[in-house]
Amino acid sequence: MARKPRDYSWPPAPDALPGTITDNHTHLESLGDVLRDGVELPSITQVIEQAASVGVTRMIQVGCDLDSARATVKMIAEHPALAGAIAIHPNEAPLHARTADVGPDELEPRYEARHGVPLDEALAEIEALARAHSKVRAIGETGLDLFRSGPRGFATQKESFRAHIALAKELGLALQIHDREAHQEVMDILLADGAPEKTVFHCFSGDKAMALKAAEQGWYLSFAGPLTFGSNSDLREALAVTPASHYMVETDAPYLTPHPYRGRPNAPYLIPVTVAGIAQVRGISLEQVCAEVSATTRAVYGDW
Ligand SMILES: [Zn+2]
Repeated sequence: MARKPRDYSWPPAPDALPGTITDNHTHLESLGDVLRDGVELPSITQVIEQAASVGVTRMIQVGCDLDSARATVKMIAEHPALAGAIAIHPNEAPLHARTADVGPDELEPRYEARHGVPLDEALAEIEALARAHSKVRAIGETGLDLFRSGPRGFATQKESFRAHIALAKELGLALQIHDREAHQEVMDILLADGAPEKTVFHCFSGDKAMALKAAEQGWYLSFAGPLTFGSNSDLREALAVTPASHYMVETDAPYLTPHPYRGRPNAPYLIPVTVAGIAQVRGISLEQVCAEVSATTRAVYGDW
């Protein structure tokens, strides 16, 4: 008997939220990267309208390489729903510095034209873009990635992370952190250098103990689709102990599609699936999740 072919189409729209909410972290310029043949690539306007139709009225658009940071400042100028976060991603920094090595993921470094720009110049451009565009509200995603890096690249990641921390503080912007298999190292650097006042762990992947440490420091935790995966009880325990004023929600679209749509493309209109997971873990209504996340988003990024 023939097996049913896997479905790579866009998941159906969930029921609209009973309030409005912001997607704390999405990569709208990358939606086309995950689409299989024959799956339609919507325009940015269509993505934003579809999100708004289920209550996702605002998004933080994240551009974390030179090309996408440039695209981000244009996109946020054109679309009222968007504010921006820009940075040189921890897996980009070693490519600029020519120190990229093969990490536990066993992927060879892939150099693109933009990596011809030395790291210090790339960081200078991020600073200039952030200064020039008032809708850039965060520096990120920056941080550490021990999955994608060996020791040489990791040293560059640390250097780059510290430069981003300093920049966020100097500009008075929030910091969005990428932490992959580097919890202790990320926290050590934040504590040693002094974390920006608004420090947000994007796609938080720690456990309850780490969430409690973050709460002590006043750091914010943003939960993505993996919260809804059956095996991730650690994440749900972390969310359960996070203060009501310090959690957010994100898609990290087009990646990390929530259950039951894993393997299919992700976009901000799917955030209600993760919001439902949050409501269940915290034992509160969808209305309350929307209200709490909206207040937190405003506290961290301001209005736009
Ligand atoms: Zn991301």
